[in-house]
Amino acid sequence: MDTKFMTELTHLGASVDLPSSSRPKVAPIYMSSAYVFDSSKTCNDVSYERKEGYLYGSYGNPTTDCLKEIIQNLECGEAAEVFSSGMSAITLAIMSQVKSGDHIIANSVIYGNSFKFLKSELEGQYNIEVTMVDLNEENLHEYFKDNTKLVYAESISNPLINVLDIERISKIAHDYGAKLLVDNTFATPIVCQPLKLGADIVVHSATKFLNGHSDIMAGIVVSTKEVMDRVIDLSRTYGPIISPFDAWLLTRSMRTLELRVNKHCDNAMKLARYLESNDKIGKVFYPGLESFEDHGLATEIFNNGQYGAMLAVDLGSLEMIEEFIKRSKLAKIVASLGSFTTSLCDTTITHSGMTREERIEMGLPDGLLRISTGLENIEDIIEEFDMIINEIMKEGVLINHG
Ligand code: PLP
Repeated sequence: MDTKFMTELTHLGASVDLPSSSRPKVAPIYMSSAYVFDSSKTCNDVSYERKEGYLYGSYGNPTTDCLKEIIQNLECGEAAEVFSSGMSAITLAIMSQVKSGDHIIANSVIYGNSFKFLKSELEGQYNIEVTMVDLNEENLHEYFKDNTKLVYAESISNPLINVLDIERISKIAHDYGAKLLVDNTFATPIVCQPLKLGADIVVHSATKFLNGHSDIMAGIVVSTKEVMDRVIDLSRTYGPIISPFDAWLLTRSMRTLELRVNKHCDNAMKLARYLESNDKIGKVFYPGLESFEDHGLATEIFNNGQYGAMLAVDLGSLEMIEEFIKRSKLAKIVASLGSFTTSLCDTTITHSGMTREERIEMGLPDGLLRISTGLENIEDIIEEFDMIINEIMKEGVLINHG
């Protein structure tokens, strides 16, 4: 018998009509990359936004829209867009604000690939001048020029954990007709809400704390409708969209964001206090410590007496970091941050695209160990770190008492 299945296989099971008596508690994942129309006119009406509707995967997706609703509200913006990585969010947000011949002022300490994008790409290839300065400097206004369009920084800097004076810097930027764009990855909106403090655009690597489970890559931009229209336009051209499945996972993670971040922050505070109390350890970089230069500012601008989950210690040298890592069972080297386990990183990883000279110029000590505090019982981490520090000392390896 001549039997063929392809028509049934390609047409059946295409949609689900749910009975009106109940609805799913959790929004489903719409994996569809395309949408079906009954007429070319309707398709055109949706395409030109004369009618509401979804058109094509890179132009919008219902699952991603659920996520956008959450993040837009948390960051207090008018609109949000979600991307396939933090770097795609950062690059598109910056590109939405500048063109050839413009000038950007960026904080002197930022994530390595953001530095690379600004200096090697925008300045190196696209005739956009980039001045790197400590934005918290008193004389910041001296760096502005007629063509300065954007000021770029992280609310908590990677990896020196310095806190950005968002209120002051946004006022200066606005005086010169420039916008302030803040990478809020380390802080999360639970700890800091840059738009409420005067920033114009906020970006995230949602790969980190927002997702928190080390299983997806994602990025977010939140701003006004006007700014986001341009970001979305660029996104359609360059196409770094998030997969609906990853958007769904990230939505799932967002349900517990406050609980997780509160625990991360409590743990970081305890770990920082322990490290500070250990006189064999050099400087501890954590805004929750009264001894840290940005403690007052952090207390003023951060939410709910929280100071984030990222900290750093100066162990004096890369060799010392290796000695520490060799002995650590609970905290491993990870080229990321913001997950449920405590993890470690040094500047040859966070700023790997840069030469040692560039890192030193950025003010990053060789022996800087960055710690992303996890959700463990922090007493276990402290016990292990204490044991390691004592062991290293016995062997006479730890020499930095700065
Ligand atoms: N911003 C900060 C502060 C980061 O630390 C990172 C990555 O480590 C990024 C942005 C880039 O994010 P992604 O790796 O998701 O592209």
